Amino acid sequence: MNRRHFLHRGGTFALGVTAGLITPAAAATPINPARKRVLRAAHLTDVHVNHENGSADGMAAAIRHAQAQRDRPELFLFGGDCIFDSLATAKPRVIEQWDIWQRVLAAELKTPARACLGNHDVFGWNNRKDAAVKRDAAYGKALALDKLGLAARHYAFDQAGWHFVVLDSMEFTHAINQGYLARLDDEQFEWLAGDLAAVPATTPICVLSHIPILSAAAFLFAENSTTGTWQVPGFLMHVDAKRIKDLFAQHANVKVCLSGHLHMVDDVTYNGVRYLCNGAVSGNWWKPGKWQDFDRAYAVIDFYDDGSVENAIEFYTTT
Ligand SMILES: [Zn+2]
Repeated sequence: MNRRHFLHRGGTFALGVTAGLITPAAAATPINPARKRVLRAAHLTDVHVNHENGSADGMAAAIRHAQAQRDRPELFLFGGDCIFDSLATAKPRVIEQWDIWQRVLAAELKTPARACLGNHDVFGWNNRKDAAVKRDAAYGKALALDKLGLAARHYAFDQAGWHFVVLDSMEFTHAINQGYLARLDDEQFEWLAGDLAAVPATTPICVLSHIPILSAAAFLFAENSTTGTWQVPGFLMHVDAKRIKDLFAQHANVKVCLSGHLHMVDDVTYNGVRYLCNGAVSGNWWKPGKWQDFDRAYAVIDFYDDGSVENAIEFYTTT
C-alpha cells in the first residue's frame, strides 16, 4: 500500500488517517474472517468536467487509474456533479460540458456504470427569474437525466447480492439562491420507504446520494468560529437526516451510504449505518492544491456478503 492510499475500517471516524494505519477504534471493530467479497466498485464523484484546468484530461486519468488497478472494479458509481455547473450557466455552455463528459466516457469507460444527480447537474434553478430558462424543456433535472441516460431521478438495482438505492438529494426551494435544499421530497421519501420495505432482511443495502445524509466534514466545510454555534447550511448536508436515519433504523440491512458534494473525505458510523463521504475527482474544483485537507480522489469499495464494506481512498495523480 503506498502513501496515497489508505483504508477505512468499519466504525472509524477517519479524517486524516494516513498510510494504512488503522486507528484503535477501527481495530476494535471485529472483522468476520469468513466473509467473502462479492463486488468491487469505484465511487467517482464531483468530476465537475468543463473546458478549463485540464479537467477533461483529469477525468480521463481518474477513470484510467481505476481501471488500471490489478484488482479492477466491476462497477463504477458516479456520484453526481458530473459537469462543472448547470445551475447558473447559460445553456450552450452547459451542453458543451455534457459533450465533454460524454466524449471522455466514450473514450475511456470500459466498466458498467451507474450515476446519480448532483446539484450542479440541475439546469437553471439559479437562473429561475429568467423566463426563457424556466420555459426551456431542459429546465431542472430533465437535461441531466437525458445526458446521464437515466429514466428516473431516483431508482434502485440489485447486484452481487446487494441492493443499491440511488437518491436525488436536491429539492427545489426559493429560500436559497442556488434553488436547492438537500432533502428528499415527500414523494421520494415514500418511494424510499417502500423500496426498503420490499428488500429481504438478509440482503444488505447501499445508498448512493450526491449530498451526504450525515457527515462530519459538513461541520468543517464552512467557518463557524465567529458565531459560537455550529451551523451546517441546508445545501451541505441533508436537512432531513433525522427522518432518513429513523427510517434506516427500521431496516437493519441498510449498511452503508455513499456521498460526495463536500470534496472532503469522512467516515461516520451512526446507529449501525456507515456514512462515507468520498472526496472529489476534481479535488479543489481542478484548481491546484487541496480543498481543505484533500487532494483529488475517488474511492474503491469492496462489498462483502456479510454487509460490511472496505473503503479505500485513492489520491490518484493526473500526470
Ligand atoms: Zn455538489
